[in-house]
Amino acid sequence: MSCTRLGLSLLLLAALGWTEDEHGSEHASHPKKKGPDHGHWSYADKAQWQLEYPYCGGQMQSPINIDTNSTIFSPELQPVVLAGCNLDPSEQLSLMNNGHTVVLQLPGSLTIASGYPQEHRAMQLHLHWGSPAGPGSEHTVDGRRYDGEIHMVYYNPSYESIKEAMRQPGGLAVLAAFLQVGPEDNVHYQPLLEQLDEIQEEGKETAVAGFNIEGLLPTNLGRYYRYSGSLTTPPCYQTVNWTVFNQTVLLSKEQISLLETTLQGDDDKDLQNNFRLTQSLHGRKVLASFQAALSPRRVPLPGAGCPPCGDSENQLGLSLQTADVLAGLFGVLFAVTALAFLIYIHKQRSQNTRPDSHPKPNVIYTAATTDENAV
Ligand SMILES: [Zn+2]
Repeated sequence: MSCTRLGLSLLLLAALGWTEDEHGSEHASHPKKKGPDHGHWSYADKAQWQLEYPYCGGQMQSPINIDTNSTIFSPELQPVVLAGCNLDPSEQLSLMNNGHTVVLQLPGSLTIASGYPQEHRAMQLHLHWGSPAGPGSEHTVDGRRYDGEIHMVYYNPSYESIKEAMRQPGGLAVLAAFLQVGPEDNVHYQPLLEQLDEIQEEGKETAVAGFNIEGLLPTNLGRYYRYSGSLTTPPCYQTVNWTVFNQTVLLSKEQISLLETTLQGDDDKDLQNNFRLTQSLHGRKVLASFQAALSPRRVPLPGAGCPPCGDSENQLGLSLQTADVLAGLFGVLFAVTALAFLIYIHKQRSQNTRPDSHPKPNVIYTAATTDENAV
């Protein structure tokens, strides 16, 4: 496990002088209880966000659809390594329903130690989901929307404050992973999901004992997409260096259902479909830390409709690659064997035609068999 435990001391957001942005954002702020200054945007009017929040109409917006055929392999992109994420159970973390999502506050001692040009410190994580009627990830891959998506938000501490970082290019880093229905409960998500019924109403808050935060992410943090984008909620600051992991996180059907049906948002309605539609790239490039050529998407298989996400697809990609290598290897072995056999036949014929040679019919077979039996 790449995660190593750092100091126990918490670097609380408050200690950094952080105060909530006037508009609030589950991506970059510590949400407060609903009040006069509560951000009044909603997912129902997301087409109107840019009227009040101009950045939402910008040209570096998130989320995006990741067209895997257009991604660019970048060998400089090193695996993401987290540090300090195995939080002690004595640490109490705030878990809140802010009306737009469920937010877990994270200590700044949790960092991204590698995978970005500089270290980033954690702020919070939150989730996006759909409804029983359909999936709700924010990013899509080759047009496919997944059941849900986790966003782990970090800031660049080289800026004077989190508030400053979230407004500056490269000030924020978000680790994103797709949530997908799998065969069994994901125990890493239980600390969050089992508390949801305590924060059903907007503004409700509870405490969660520290646990291993890295367990919420995929096991493979080496294969991911990277691009420059924005917060996916108002004020849509275009300051996020995104990481979207290729491997998905599997939750049981019951766990996904719990997420989709427990919380309430504005007007006491079910908090569902809290995802923004994908935004235009406007010429932006999406980098990949891995060679997309190894992905199964380039090898159409009967009935294979999945983009290159999830364990099964990854394994399929590796097995296809292995099959190619083995086929080549056997081809070479066959050619060498055939060549050796031809040379041997040629030698035998040469010997047999030499005037002083003694014919030894079947000698090689007889002798070899005898030797083998004698051993
Ligand atoms: Zn988000």
